[in-house]
Amino acid sequence: MPFPCDLAADHIRAIAPYQPGKPTAELQRELGLTAIVKLASNENPLGVSPLALQAMQDQLETLALYPDGNGFGLKTAIAARFGVRLDQVVLGNGSNDILEFAARAFLGPGTSAVYSQHAFAVYPLATQTVGARGIEVPARHFGCDLQAMVDAIAADTRVLFIANPNNPTGTFIPAADLMAALERIPEHVLVVLDEAYTEYLGADDVYDSIAWLARFPNLLVSRTFSKAYGLAGLRVGFGLASAAVIDLLNRVRPPFNVNTLGLAGAEAALADTAFLERSVALNRLGMQQVTQGLAALDLEWIPSWGNFVAFRVGDASGVYRALLQRGVIVRPVGNYGMPEWLRVSIGLAAENRTFLQALATVLQRTLPASLA
Ligand SMILES: *Cc1c(COP(=O)(O)O)cnc(C)c1O
Repeated sequence: MPFPCDLAADHIRAIAPYQPGKPTAELQRELGLTAIVKLASNENPLGVSPLALQAMQDQLETLALYPDGNGFGLKTAIAARFGVRLDQVVLGNGSNDILEFAARAFLGPGTSAVYSQHAFAVYPLATQTVGARGIEVPARHFGCDLQAMVDAIAADTRVLFIANPNNPTGTFIPAADLMAALERIPEHVLVVLDEAYTEYLGADDVYDSIAWLARFPNLLVSRTFSKAYGLAGLRVGFGLASAAVIDLLNRVRPPFNVNTLGLAGAEAALADTAFLERSVALNRLGMQQVTQGLAALDLEWIPSWGNFVAFRVGDASGVYRALLQRGVIVRPVGNYGMPEWLRVSIGLAAENRTFLQALATVLQRTLPASLA
């Protein structure tokens, strides 16, 4: 008699699970270290917005009750902030949920999804999970080759995933290029524009993809509270699109996918613009500090528009392990087709300095006094 696992579909058994950053507590257990700097998951080094914290504390005593399955309060706040209607908003348990919903609603066996080489790992995962075919388009200088992606759209393509900025490369597609691509993409292909890091864009690069929704009913913009809003552990994200797309996504959304604390915390975080501004300002300074350090260590890095930067060390797994020994957790990106690279998240100034010092030691190079 076959075991159930032997009968699971081949496309499920072939999945290589998502590899998260190493948790601090795990390294603590393994090495008995106490001082650990985790710069592995693009988390907000400022922690949780005080307004969000208070809003969640205020909800603790209601936890015997189910949350509002429609997320009315949070959706209303999102709709007001971004100038869309309530029926253009879908909530997710992290924006990861939004990506999964797009795959479940629009993909399946006999269809395909287009995404770039070095793109966020969830696109191939979500595609594979529903038995669809992934079309990975070679990147150019680590960034999306949008023209080639549009050209790669096949007769059975139903979804095109784009992260802007992209993780783990940090690369950015200017608004004009995105718009040009949207104009060329056939209307029957859903464009998932994953803007997990959009809050970090500077004045020169910022663009209003939400205004484009009126023109492109096949556009789905996804956003998250995990990065600049500082709520990665809470798991809240959202998608904005035409009402018709949102309606389909809501059909595959599990009941109560965003919990009571998530609804309250995210709504308060959205209102805490001072915290958001501080997060973005801190990231700008930290990015300068880290990239100056990488330059001083004579390392190649990819200019990044996010809250992280990828840099080339050659023996990435050796350097990764040596950094772990020194209590610094960064992210190996070999599974993204970048075996010689590591990715470091921008932390507090002291954390960035600890990382640069450890990296200098591991590579047996010297950091100039101004950066050490
Ligand atoms: C971090 C990240 C996300 C979102 O993560 P959630 O915590 O699930 O919201 C989505 N896309 C990219 C490119 C990311 O880096």
